[in-house]
Amino acid sequence: MYCKICGGDKAALNILGQSICKECIEEILETSPWDESYDYYKNIMRIILGYYISEKQLLNPVN
Ligand SMILES: [Zn+2]
Repeated sequence: MYCKICGGDKAALNILGQSICKECIEEILETSPWDESYDYYKNIMRIILGYYISEKQLLNPVN
């Protein structure tokens, strides 16, 4: 499994159905709202949540 954020092939954990490596998780956790990279990781989390929600919808179609 490749990390969804950095594309690395290190051991990745499964977060909301997406594979993310330990380094990226630590980066996200250590990123503060006043860091320049905060918006970047906020967008990443939004994308990951988007995947998660769309997969749920595929599993449980409303129509
Ligand atoms: Zn990564």
